[in-house]
Amino acid sequence: MKASNMIIGTLKEAPQEAVIDSHILLIRSGLVKKEVAGIYNFMPLGLKVLRKIENVIREEMDESGALEILCSALQPKEIWEESGRWQKYGPELMRLKDRNEREFCLGPTHEEVFTTLAKDFARSYKDLPKNVYQIQTKYRDEMRPRFGLIRSREFIMKDSYSFDKDEEGLDKSYNVMYDVYSRIFDRLHLDYVPVLADTGAIGGSSSHQFMALSDVGESTIIYNDNYAADQEKAETVAEDYNSSEEMKAIEEVSTPNVKTIEDLSTYLNVDKQRIVKALVYKNFTDNSLVVCFIRGDRELNKIKLTNYLGVGEYDLDFAKENEFESVGSVFGFVGPIGLKNVRIIVDTEVPMVKNQIVGSNKADYHLKNVNYERDYKGEVTDLRLAVSGNFDIIKKEPLKSRRGTEVGQIFKLGTKYSKAMNLNYVNPEGKDTPVVMGCYGIGVSRTFQAIIEQYHDEHGIVFPDDLAPYKVVIIPIKFKDEMGAISEQLYDTLKKAGVEVILDDRNQSFGVKSHDWDLIGIPYHIIVGRDAAQGNVEFKIRKSYSSEVVSIDEAISRLTK
Ligand code: ATP
Ligand code: MG
Repeated sequence: MKASNMIIGTLKEAPQEAVIDSHILLIRSGLVKKEVAGIYNFMPLGLKVLRKIENVIREEMDESGALEILCSALQPKEIWEESGRWQKYGPELMRLKDRNEREFCLGPTHEEVFTTLAKDFARSYKDLPKNVYQIQTKYRDEMRPRFGLIRSREFIMKDSYSFDKDEEGLDKSYNVMYDVYSRIFDRLHLDYVPVLADTGAIGGSSSHQFMALSDVGESTIIYNDNYAADQEKAETVAEDYNSSEEMKAIEEVSTPNVKTIEDLSTYLNVDKQRIVKALVYKNFTDNSLVVCFIRGDRELNKIKLTNYLGVGEYDLDFAKENEFESVGSVFGFVGPIGLKNVRIIVDTEVPMVKNQIVGSNKADYHLKNVNYERDYKGEVTDLRLAVSGNFDIIKKEPLKSRRGTEVGQIFKLGTKYSKAMNLNYVNPEGKDTPVVMGCYGIGVSRTFQAIIEQYHDEHGIVFPDDLAPYKVVIIPIKFKDEMGAISEQLYDTLKKAGVEVILDDRNQSFGVKSHDWDLIGIPYHIIVGRDAAQGNVEFKIRKSYSSEVVSIDEAISRLTK
């Protein structure tokens, strides 16, 4: 391709909202253009990269025996009501009406559609197993679209769905997809780790996420040699603070205006571990309040709480201060003794804390020496947010944390959708049986940017050879006379040899041209200067940012090898 014929939209400056390198470079390189917040257009060079990523995914999916289809983004409300998700999905679901007031959504995912389609292609045990996929546009009205393609409102996903006769079949399909994902991310040159994951709004029994490692990733990975999980999911050993301490009698202490754990621990001169803090939530599915108790040095993992309560992410939020009265308490001083009309949920570490400091449900007072079981009870479950320094549940060894970007996730759905939506197959005995499903997503456009996040330097993007929009660019110092003619010849030769090559025939300074291709990340630059008449060119390797003078023949042979 000749550069004069291309759209090269490089920019000197990135917009202010771009704060991470990959987002800045994505925009500065002109590979994509922003339409409005969270909505982007792929320009010619960006689209070439996107297609290469898609093709890697497609090749590996096809190789595994999966079948590609393409579905509409528009989905009727009825199928979402069948699955029960029309209500549960919350404000992220982009809902709309047609001219006859019929309601639709723009699909954030396609479980409902694929389950419906499978009613035709998965009728009998003879039709199973099947794995069907698409590479298609998804819509999510994200609360905070940010980081460019990492969290956008329209994005491209590869989603696939497996259909099996039984759990054993699902296990097999899931393991196949786990391996396929590993191969895909290997071929995309990502530094990644698979981790245990929560199943979120999709539902189902078990799940893994594939995390591209990145210091600016939105996810936190809790890991050591025995264990790796997304922070939302991570389980850790419940730690003992002082379980062998003698129980003492309860005392009321005056704590005027002391509301935070920090202040309370200073004011009473006690460890935060001894303080049991209360978090009051409102469950919007029935407008009830729930009070959670957790050690003062811990944070609550809201995902664990929503899973425990069996409600959606958006069905639960902090209660308002004026609602505390209804359960017999007061903001800032909530404690477990004397609460009424409320579910009390206690983190697994709390029963092990002896002589706890808790709120008194009365302004400006706390209680000392309160003990679980003796003085109050609740439902005990793991509510803690795992952090580095906690211990893994396999070998009880210390855990570390690091950040990542979720580029893919796989789920064992089981019969959640097939039961809700009546997807049955006829088994060999002639009996209707629910199909056992799995689902598997890759954020294709997010992966695009995750690659840039891992492959860039101070000059711009450094695409791996096989993902770059073009492999090589020929840059004549001046595109005229002999330099021009030699450049054209070299261009023809490489093109004929099947090399993806650009000839920069633009009437621009060498500096401008070179800068553009550095930014866009073309792996090899051939600089045609005065030496070309003597048969020599400069061969620059973008990755090492180094160049050497080689003969034209040598350059050709390096690029065609
Ligand atoms: P997240 O937790 O980041 O919001 P998710 O777990 O809700 O993502 P899934 O439903 O698992 O996402 O979707 C499959 C894949 O689609 C994700 O692994 C991710 O790579 C990608 N993805 C999800 N949401 C977005 C988004 N808003 N923009 C770009 N890619 C996304
Ligand atoms: Mg996910």
